Amino acid sequence: MFGRGIELKSPEQVVAMRRAGLVVAHALDAVRAAIAPGVTTAELDALAHDTIRAHGATSNFLHYGAEPGVPGFPGVICTSVNDEVVHGIPGPRVLRDGDVISVDCGAIVDGWHGDAAITVEVGEVRPEVHTLVAETERALWAGIVAGAPGRRVGDISHAIERSVQSAGSYGIADGYTGHGIGTAMHQAPDVPNVGRPGKGPKIVPGLVLAVEPMVTLGSPDNRTTEDQWTVVTVDGSWAAHWEHTVTWTEEGAWVLTAVDGGRAQLAALGVAYAGNDA
Ligand code: MG
Ligand code: MG
Repeated sequence: MFGRGIELKSPEQVVAMRRAGLVVAHALDAVRAAIAPGVTTAELDALAHDTIRAHGATSNFLHYGAEPGVPGFPGVICTSVNDEVVHGIPGPRVLRDGDVISVDCGAIVDGWHGDAAITVEVGEVRPEVHTLVAETERALWAGIVAGAPGRRVGDISHAIERSVQSAGSYGIADGYTGHGIGTAMHQAPDVPNVGRPGKGPKIVPGLVLAVEPMVTLGSPDNRTTEDQWTVVTVDGSWAAHWEHTVTWTEEGAWVLTAVDGGRAQLAALGVAYAGNDA
């Protein structure tokens, strides 16, 4: 352990987390390939569940938040469509041409957690929605490459905020952040999507964070609906969400939930890949 209740992982434990991250990556790949007009979000959930099970992993989303008398989250993925920001429940909703859907997925392997999210366009979306999706993903990678040993969590937050603000007039969803991850899905520290450089916990080797910008076409204000889970924008504007589980060494970054470990995107952004993949 480290200060502020932060769980630091050994290099061997990070390798174990990579196994969980890869399962998440494969599940999201399967879901992405299946997204099309006419598909229900329940079908996507079943596909993710099949993929997680096929890799010998378990879901950390299913029954999340359960306690006596409370069943917890009912899916293995969150499917958040259009004005839904995060935590949408998979079900009978049929995707239509022009929709946008964010899919958040997690998995556990040998007690280690992975967590990632993608946003996918269904058929042909409005141009501003296409740009929203691209800019939110760009903000994720801006946050990832802002991390390095010796820097601070606020450097990641600030990079995300600057990336979004430089892209245009967007909202950064209020009240939701990234987080530490390891032997539990949600750990210290919080990784806000706005912040000041040089502030917050120091980034050190062995720190593993879920970085996850949530961006709207309108106001950052949101609320939870009657189902107790789905978070929607108050103004009805559409939203996007991208997330990766990431760690850093003196050599560079390792994106544990990217199939390629982040190699391609990191190279494009001038940051070394510091993974341990074969
Ligand atoms: Mg997530
Ligand atoms: Mg997360």
